[in-house]
Amino acid sequence: MKVWLNGTLVDEAQATVSVLDHGLLYGDGVFEGIRVYGGRIFQCDAHIDRLFASAKFIRLPIPFTRQELVDGMYAALNANGRTDAYIRLVVTRGPGNLGLSPFKCSQPNTIIIADTIALYPQEMYRDGMEVIIAKTVRTSPRMVPPRAKTLNYLNNILAKIEAIDAGTAEAIMLNEHGEVAECTGDNIFIIEKGRLVTPPDEAGILCGITRGVVLDIAQGMGIPVAKESILPARLYAADECFLTGSAAEIIPVTKIDAHLIGAGKVGAMTMKLHEAFHAMIKSH
Ligand code: PMP
Repeated sequence: MKVWLNGTLVDEAQATVSVLDHGLLYGDGVFEGIRVYGGRIFQCDAHIDRLFASAKFIRLPIPFTRQELVDGMYAALNANGRTDAYIRLVVTRGPGNLGLSPFKCSQPNTIIIADTIALYPQEMYRDGMEVIIAKTVRTSPRMVPPRAKTLNYLNNILAKIEAIDAGTAEAIMLNEHGEVAECTGDNIFIIEKGRLVTPPDEAGILCGITRGVVLDIAQGMGIPVAKESILPARLYAADECFLTGSAAEIIPVTKIDAHLIGAGKVGAMTMKLHEAFHAMIKSH
């Protein structure tokens, strides 16, 4: 595989960064996970916007323009002959000394990997997935704001370990107030009496790009949508539930902890939204 590293395509084995990179030493950096369908980057502007917003928040100057990054993504795709792919775009703080100061780091490293991803097995899309509510609380927006997509994913990884220990593929994370925030790598939606509800941005979440697309699609279909605070009891009682993410797309949830959601089968509205999402991908 060829990797785009700081403006040059290099073989994977040569795509290396310093052991003093603060991305490695401290998780100091930002990233995006982006899909490519039919040779075109899905929601390209939204991902570039979020990357620059995340970088601005941690005061990391990205040493490339938006257009250079887009060109870099297409260069990585072409070099690997891919028209359907998952792109990981990473900007690290770069090599520094063993102290924390990001301002001693000389030059950020910008990395574009165009590969594939299969997060969940196909049966889960057909039959629904089982998830748990993690004990690990989602980072408070007053700590590291979840809306910045930084390389610091240990909060999510601890919850993911809980999920795996429980034999599930994902875990729902609550915020410091006990409200539903999101999953370790996906946003969450419920359906109640024909209404689509998702936690608000202020719940302390990554404002997922797939979440935005699904909200738009639902509105276009005339489905009432709302961003509301959701407590676990409301989640357990929902008619339907699904998760969204660039890697996962739309994946139905049919069991949360010991509670079957709806009839324990993939719900009708989830299926409709899933179909509409795939139609959009085909024509984007
Ligand atoms: N929440 C978290 C914590 C994530 O890491 C992700 C992306 N993997 C999402 C939500 C979904 O965001 P998007 O739809 O932009 O991929």
